[in-house]
This record gives sequence, C-alpha cells and structure tokens, in this order.
Amino acid sequence: MTRIQFKNLFTSPTGRLAESYLLVIMLMSIGFSMVFYNVSSYQLGRQLPPDDMIQREAATATTHPPDSADVDYYHDSDDIGQFLHNRISQGITSLRFRLLYLNIGTLVLGAIVSYLLARRTLRPIEQAMETQIQFVNDASHELRTPLTAILTSNDVALRNSKLQLHSAKQVIKQNSEDIQRLKTLSDSLLSLARNEKMNLKYTNVELQTVVSNAITHIVPQAAAKNISVHDEVAAVNILGNKVALEQVIIILLDNAVKYSNRKSNIFVKTRRKGKYIYLDVIDQGIGIRASDINHIFRRFYRADHSRSGGERSGYGLGLSIAKRIMLNHNSSLSVTSIIGEGSTFTIKLKLVL
Ligand code: ADP
Repeated sequence: MTRIQFKNLFTSPTGRLAESYLLVIMLMSIGFSMVFYNVSSYQLGRQLPPDDMIQREAATATTHPPDSADVDYYHDSDDIGQFLHNRISQGITSLRFRLLYLNIGTLVLGAIVSYLLARRTLRPIEQAMETQIQFVNDASHELRTPLTAILTSNDVALRNSKLQLHSAKQVIKQNSEDIQRLKTLSDSLLSLARNEKMNLKYTNVELQTVVSNAITHIVPQAAAKNISVHDEVAAVNILGNKVALEQVIIILLDNAVKYSNRKSNIFVKTRRKGKYIYLDVIDQGIGIRASDINHIFRRFYRADHSRSGGERSGYGLGLSIAKRIMLNHNSSLSVTSIIGEGSTFTIKLKLVL
C-alpha cells in the first residue's frame, strides 16, 4: 500500500470512525489495566510483613534458636525480608509487562476489529450516497442533452442572417419537442423523488375506473399505431391509492404501445387468487431479453433496442417509478417476456372483500 493510500485510510470516513472506536476500546483497556495494576500491587504489598515485625522475628530467632531443620530458613531474618521484597517487586514488574503486552495486543486487535466494524457500519450509508450521486449524475446528463440541442439549434438559427420563416418554424418546432421531452423528464424525476418520501393514502378503489382512466390517456398513441387495447378487467374494489395506481397502469400501457409493432393488440386482464387480484398488461411487442429483465426496473436503464430514439424514446424511469409505487403499496410488479412474442407486466393488488 502506498503512502497516499495509507493517508486516505486514516482520513477517510471509515478510518475516522475506526479511530473513534479504537479510542474507546483503548481508553477502556488502559483504564481497566490501571485499576487492575493498582489493586494487584496493593494486594501484593500487603503480603509483605511490616519491617518491625521482621526485626522482632530476627530477635526471637537469635534468643530462641529454632530446630536444626529450620536453621537454614531462619539463618538471617533480614534475608527473609529482602527475599519477600524481591519477590514482590519481581511480581509487580512482571504484572507491568503483562499489562503492557495486553494493551499492545488490544491496540492491534482493536484496530482490526474497529476497522471492520466501521466498514460494516458505513457500508449502507456509502451505498446510499453512491446511488444518490449516480442518480444526480444520470439525471443531469439526461437534462443536459436536450438543453444542448436547444442551445445549438438556436445559435445556428440566430447566426443565419438569411433565415427563412419556414426554417425558423422548423427550429421552433424542434425546440418545442425538446422542451416537451425536458418537461416529461423533470416530471418523472419529481415523481421519483416524491414517491420515495410519499406516504400514500389507501382507499377503497374501483379497479375498472382506474384502468379505463389509464386507457383513455394512451388511446391517441395506440390509435396512431393502429394498436387495439382490450379492457378485460373484473368489476372489483381494491385497496390502493387511485392516482398512483393510474400512473402505474399508464406507464405499463405506454410501454406496451411504445414497444409493440403496428396493428397489434394489448390486453388488460385480471385474475383473482384468494384475497388478491392480479392485473396483467399483455402486449404482442418486441419482448425483453433475459439479460435485460433483471435491470429494467433500475433508474435510467434502457435495453439496447429501445435506445434507438423515435417513438421508442424514453429515459428509463417509467418502470422504476411504477415499481416504487407498487412497493409503497406493499405489493409487487413483475414481468415475463418472450423475445419477438411480447411481454406481460403483472401487478398484485389487495381486494376489498
Ligand atoms: P423507457 O421506456 O422510458 O425507456 P422504462 O423504465 O419504462 O423506460 O423501461 C425500461 C426499459 O424496459 C425500456 O427501455 C425497454 O427496453 C424495456 N421495456 C419496458 N416495457 C417494455 C415492453 N412492454 N416491451 C419491451 N420492452 C420493454
């Protein structure tokens, strides 16, 4: 590891948090060691008899000599005191070293444990921040593209001193389309931001009304491609947020129209299962590759085939908005698809029985 990486390790948020953890661990370890040292050295000191007692023993040993077996032991009672002093000071020195090793060990082990703990604590926060940064980057990139197009076409038109009325109208028309795209994008971004925080209110909703309102929205696009939309929704009431559910169905129908060929059919059907009703939006369109299916609910994700622009232009936000709304409903949005045959998007809703 280079010096710069080491520096980053200490100044990074993970490093700083690990340092705080380590500080707490070391304060506790040193505090504990000090208390332990004081108590132990006091207890060891108590094992040593007072000096006057040793002297008394020495005097007794001289006036009343002990049995021959004890002679060596009581040979010189000063030695006993010295011996005990030495043993106790050796014990205290050994205790100091042991506590020092213990604290060095705690420092090393504590540093590793603190770093691992800090990484574990910060990982979700770092991931959330990365997602946020990625979102802002993607959003600003998508916003910049139409803005640059508008600026460029305006500049070119303004520099052309012989600009004809017809060409000027063309520029304005192009700009209006780009502005419309910007509006759609900012609406979608707002919708995403709102849905993240929104506490949706759930009421008793007539599913047929929600679906027919949604169909009305996409009839013009469907008619332009000669696509028929078949409404086969059962007359049931569900628990949900009417406006949000309408938005989900509009997104699914809009995609179904966008990714279907001319003169095809779209079906909106329901299946009942116990306390739930499943609503399928079925198209006979281009389908979704297996490799794309796990990603299409991600913000800004667009399968390659849909990047070509024209009627299939979009920002890859629709499905992530729809998914978020369904998650808000404690429910699901899923998809099955066969390339060249079509896709079925399914939402699960709770029935009001
Ligand atoms: P957008 O349609 O604006 O690109 P979405 O989030 O609604 O964004 O969809 C993400 C991607 O999923 C699309 O780019 C497209 O590749 C794919 N997709 C969505 N719906 C369908 C569908 N009904 N048929 C085929 N592909 C679809």
